[in-house]
Amino acid sequence: MAKADKYTIKDLQKQFPTDDVVLDFIFENLHSRDCSCGGTYSRVKGRKQYQCSKCRYQIAPTAGTIFHKSDTPLTDWFYALFIFSNAKSGISAKELERQLGVTYKCAWRILKQIRRALTQDNDKLDGTVEMDTAYLGGRFKSGKDNKRQKEAIAAKSVVMGAVSRGGEVRLKVVPDASATTINAFLEQNVAKTARLLTDDALTYKHSASAYAREAVNHKKEYVNGDVHINGIETLWGHIKRSLAGIQKVVSKKELQAYLDVFAFHYNNRHNDSHRFGVLLGTVLRASV
Ligand SMILES: [Zn+2]
Repeated sequence: MAKADKYTIKDLQKQFPTDDVVLDFIFENLHSRDCSCGGTYSRVKGRKQYQCSKCRYQIAPTAGTIFHKSDTPLTDWFYALFIFSNAKSGISAKELERQLGVTYKCAWRILKQIRRALTQDNDKLDGTVEMDTAYLGGRFKSGKDNKRQKEAIAAKSVVMGAVSRGGEVRLKVVPDASATTINAFLEQNVAKTARLLTDDALTYKHSASAYAREAVNHKKEYVNGDVHINGIETLWGHIKRSLAGIQKVVSKKELQAYLDVFAFHYNNRHNDSHRFGVLLGTVLRASV
């Protein structure tokens, strides 16, 4: 990674030293200094408002953003976003509490708001695309105890993932692993022109017929040339470890939000500075 691609705590403190600077940044991202009446907006002293010099119309730039109605200083919010952007394996509220020096409740709320702001792109993946299904989340680690194992499986969610080699990933919580669901997932996330790689589960025969598909036979050979799904399988492993590390229980309801976070980090993995910029832009424009 080139040095210019890095974005360090020093860069953050230099770019956003005070709440006033952060507020200016938010205003300029969401509004124009030039009012339609011909006047110019400037900051109202001592208030989180901007006012037009001619028509006196006022704008509160944090209104409708995740920063609205929060007592947490904007510089703390941006520090939290910085930590979040660099935490490729996710971050727990406990960890953010420690790093930010705020209460657990405050840290938890900040993380929840950031997660809510992130959603995945709808552009379809193309090129060579690996697709796979996984069972994620739940409370228990599956062990030898049959009853616990049953509970563990029941608490898990079916997740479908597709990753374009060298490109992006799409991760979705789905109702089941049926052929109909696979079909719907592919229809929504993978272009018909893609070369699709899957395992040799029979369900794909009935669902992915519209695609040029090659299947990996896990029993016979692990890798046949470049016909493998190691990319998506590696990602499942990363997600499972990260979920175990950041949260003991992830409910089915919360899981999609966590998957959106993983997709965000994966799809912006090449450049720290760019990823932070994308995160700021996304968070500012998120409707809350
Ligand atoms: Zn005006």
